[in-house]
Order: sequence, then structure tokens, then C-alpha cells
Amino acid sequence: MRILVLSDIHANLTALEKVLQDAGEVDATWCLGDIVGYGPDPNECVALLRQRANLTCLLGNHDAAVLDRIPLETFNHDARRSIEWIQRIVSPATIQFLSTLPEKILVEEVTLVHGSPRNPVWEYVLDLYNAAQNFNHFDTRVCMVGHTHLPIAYIASENPRDVRWVIPLENESITIEHRAILNPGSVGQPRDHDPRASYAIFNSETYTWQVQRVEYDVRSVQKRIRAADLPARHALRLLEGW
Ligand code: ZN
Repeated sequence: MRILVLSDIHANLTALEKVLQDAGEVDATWCLGDIVGYGPDPNECVALLRQRANLTCLLGNHDAAVLDRIPLETFNHDARRSIEWIQRIVSPATIQFLSTLPEKILVEEVTLVHGSPRNPVWEYVLDLYNAAQNFNHFDTRVCMVGHTHLPIAYIASENPRDVRWVIPLENESITIEHRAILNPGSVGQPRDHDPRASYAIFNSETYTWQVQRVEYDVRSVQKRIRAADLPARHALRLLEGW
């Protein structure tokens, strides 16, 4: 199966549309959570995503906050403002969809979570030490995570203690020989100083993983963020990808 892997769309419809177009035909779509938060188009992103055939979608921390499952105090000021804004404009259909999302799921023998297999909604897998520990918290060959907004692959060799990291080059495919924790980066708010939307294609037969980047019209999203009176910082960061 050719699988489109998305994460951290963050209510950026323009980026999501571009990614879906760029990815072309796929057999399944896996979304690793944080469909909403920061951006101006939460309802539109959920509606577009729901149309995908063979969709598996996970719950992210921003999605959980909109559902009142996480106290707002745990977010920084600007993130909190954006969650409060969504709660005012969110449609019943969006709430209904978000409330069905699991925190962890196994599909095609791959573990999917938003944060980490150890702490699915909250933990950031940001370094080798943390990644090495997290290999003990899933049984499949591959676990996919989002949450950090950084495309990266943690690869374990035959010796499970020997873990290295790789920042995948665009269009270069990595073949997973043993085990890996894979992050496709963020569709709607990349933080690796490359403002282009990030996503990955996973082939579940050959175990290959390929990260792709695609440009989108950042200015139009910034306009909508400002028009909605969302924090200006959320508009600014999109231009440089931080
Ligand atoms: Zn996120």
C-alpha cells in the first residue's frame, strides 16, 4: 500500500489542499493528530480530511484541548487563545469527528500516535535518548509520531540499543531494515526553518519512507489568521517555518 502520512495540519487548509494534491493517488491516509489549533480553518480541514477514503486519524493535544479533555492552562498564552477561538467557532460535525479519535492505534502492523508511544498525546520525541527509551513502548517494527513539527527518523539497528537519527532529504527514500520511529513533519506549521508543508509517503510492503515538501500560499493563510484576530505570532512564524 502507498500511504500518505500527515501530521500537525493545525487548521491550515491551504497547506492541506496542496499536500493532498502533491501526494497524488494513495491507498490510505494516516493523520497523526493536531488537525486544529493555531490556524484559521479548523472546520474546513476536518471536513476535507473526512472525505479521504481509508482514513486513520489520531488525537493530538490541540484536538484534545478543544474537546476540553486537557486543561487550557497547560498551553502557552497564544496557543490557548487559538483554542478558545476554535471553541467559539467549532461546528458540531468537527466536535463529533474529533471526539472519535483514538490516542494510539495499530494499522497495517504500524503503531501510530501523536506524541510518543510511551505518552501518546503529550511527550515529544526530540532526541536520541528519548527515542531509544520509546522503542521499548511499542511492539511493531515501525511507530509513527508527530507533535514536534520536525521531519526526522530514529533508526534502530539489529542491536536495539544502537539508535541513530536521520533527517531525511527531500525525495530520498529510507528503507527500514529493523525498527524505526518516524516523524513526517508538519503540514500546517513546519518548525525546521523550511516553511514548505511537510508530509511523507510510506510503502507498507517495502517499508520505505519518503518525506516530501511542497510550497503553498502562506500569505493567504496569514491574511485569514489576522482577519480572525488570532495571535499575530501564528501568522509570522509560517513565513520562515519556526
Ligand atoms: Zn502540533
